[in-house]
Amino acid sequence: MSAGYAFVPLPDRVLVRERTEIVHDRRVQGTLSGRLEITLVAEQPVHVGSGYKGLVDGKAVRRGALVRGVPGVPGSSLKGVVRSRYEAITRSCIPGGAKANWKVRSRTFGLDNAPARLTRSVRDKEVFCAQEYPRDLMLCPACALWGRMSFRSRVSVTDFVSLGAEPFEISKMPKQFGPNLHHVGPFKRNTGGGRGDNEPAIEVHDLHGRKFALCPGPATTQDAMELVEAIPRRSQLRGEMRMKNVLPAEIGGLLIALGWGRPRDRSALKLGGGKALGFGRLRVSSITYRLHDHAGKDVLHDEVAWCDAFERTDDCFPAGLQKLVEIHQGDC
Ligand SMILES: [Zn+2]
Repeated sequence: MSAGYAFVPLPDRVLVRERTEIVHDRRVQGTLSGRLEITLVAEQPVHVGSGYKGLVDGKAVRRGALVRGVPGVPGSSLKGVVRSRYEAITRSCIPGGAKANWKVRSRTFGLDNAPARLTRSVRDKEVFCAQEYPRDLMLCPACALWGRMSFRSRVSVTDFVSLGAEPFEISKMPKQFGPNLHHVGPFKRNTGGGRGDNEPAIEVHDLHGRKFALCPGPATTQDAMELVEAIPRRSQLRGEMRMKNVLPAEIGGLLIALGWGRPRDRSALKLGGGKALGFGRLRVSSITYRLHDHAGKDVLHDEVAWCDAFERTDDCFPAGLQKLVEIHQGDC
């Protein structure tokens, strides 16, 4: 039994530097453009909610996302997962900054909707503030590749479609509590706080790192179950990752973020609902490369050279890479 999540440490520093390759109006020498044709295999049922419920045999079921009318994974969902993983293996910021206040519920402390807060020193951490006001082409590795306000992403992800258009299976998933946000770091419980005065009930004074949901989650035997539509285990999904003006080292990082790269970089992706409850594990099973250089000439793929190049850059955060791969190997 585990908590249902693990943390990847935060980088020692955020590497904000000028990135001259972030342009869309021309091809940049030394970069690659084109697309990766990717096949994923579901190792657990995958539930990506559509936001709707429906009735199946008279029972309420959370509907799964449809892609062109068949079960699939929306490109935006996969892009979010791969970006988070890319952030974890690079010296990147946490986009969106620190959330100052939120509400927690805790069985341990008997709290329900009690105010919680990050201390000033946490909110002032470099990972939140390095890029509050990005200018020119000064960006961290993840924002440079995946985009941020006023900088377009150089990578896009298409919707992934279930091959053979296999229908959803109806799975039982324990109803989940909202995430216990006070578990993001060591915290102080203020007795007497949280009663509408200025003192929060929970004050988080440091961060464990970037949080990733993993199996097995906490005991859920007392929790109510709900029915969900899920892409069945062993389904294959196919889609593309398209890119423009991406450096070979960035492709190396991208491959590792996809759970691919060199044999030692291989790891699983976790996507959708119930990640700590036996859902959502996918693995890349093949990639076909359709890449060309700035002059339009075809480029043969070299996964080892690209990943080695990524590891040699200061963008790479080795401790994050090691931990991310470690927690996503085997059953997770
Ligand atoms: Zn950033």
